[in-house]
Amino acid sequence: PPLADPRPPAVVIAVCNQKGGVGKTTTTISLGAALAELGRRVLLVDFDPQGSLSVGLGVNPHTLEHSVYTLLLTREVEVGEVIDATDTEGMDLLPSNIDLAAAELQLVSEVGREQTLSRVLNKVKNDYDVILIDCAPSLGLLTINALTAAEWVLMPLECEFFALRGIALLTDTIDKVQDRLNPDLKVLGILGTMYDPRTLHSREVLDRVVQAFGDQVFHTVIRRTVKFPETTVAGEPITSYASASPGAAAYRMLAREVLARCR
Ligand code: ADP
Ligand code: MG
Repeated sequence: PPLADPRPPAVVIAVCNQKGGVGKTTTTISLGAALAELGRRVLLVDFDPQGSLSVGLGVNPHTLEHSVYTLLLTREVEVGEVIDATDTEGMDLLPSNIDLAAAELQLVSEVGREQTLSRVLNKVKNDYDVILIDCAPSLGLLTINALTAAEWVLMPLECEFFALRGIALLTDTIDKVQDRLNPDLKVLGILGTMYDPRTLHSREVLDRVVQAFGDQVFHTVIRRTVKFPETTVAGEPITSYASASPGAAAYRMLAREVLARCR
C-alpha cells in the first residue's frame, strides 16, 4: 500500500488588486485551468461576494446551499462538503455568493478575524498543489483574510495609465499584512492584462510598469481579446473554450512562470 502522500501542502496564491475589472477573476480561472493541465491539483476560492468566479465556471451562485460564507461564519458544514469539482479535471471550486458581503461586517467581532479563511484552508491544504484565491475589489477585511491565508500575491494590472496609482496602496497593504499578520507573504509577480499592442498608450504603460517593478513583472502579458468575455458566458476556462487561442497559450505560459517562481 502507498505510504502517506509525500506531496507538500498547497502553495496558496491570492489574486489581488483593489480595482475592479482588471482581470483577477479571469486570471484565477485561466491560470487555475492551465495549472490543472500541467497535472497540478488546483482549488479555486471565490472570495468576492459578486461570485463572478463561480459564474465563470458555470455555477449559479443563487442556488448554492453552502458557500465560503457558511465556512467563515458558521460551524454547520465541513469545507469538503462545500468544495465542488469543476468540469476541468483536477480543478475544484470553493464557491461564493452575495452572502459573503455580510461576512465583511460579521467578521469584525470574531476572535482572530483576519485568520478566518486561513483556518478554513488549512484543512484542505494537503489535498491540493495550488490554491488560488480570487479577491474582491477592495482592501477590506475579506481581502486581508486572503492575504493572511496566502503565501504569495499575484497582482493583475491592466495596461491603463491610472492603473499604476493603485499599486502603491496595494503594496502598502501587503507590507502591513506582512508586518502584523503573515510574515511569509511575498509578491509573486505583477501581471500585465488587457494589453493592446496596437496602441502606443498600452505599450507605454507596460514599459513604465517594467521600469518601476523590474523582475517582479511576469514575462507573460495578457492581451485584450473578446475571447475572455466569451468564456464567462460559456461558463468554462479559455483553455477548454478556445484551447488553441493566443489567450489560452498566454495563461499556459503564465502557469509555467508561476511554478518556477513558487519554488
Ligand atoms: P476582475 O475580477 O478584476 O473584476 P475580470 O476578470 O472579471 O476582472 O474581468 C473584467 C471583465 O473584463 C470581464 O468581462 C472579463 O471577461 C473581461 N476581461 C478579462 N480579461 C480580459 C482580456 N485579457 N481581454 C479582454 N477582456 C478581458
Ligand atoms: Mg472578479
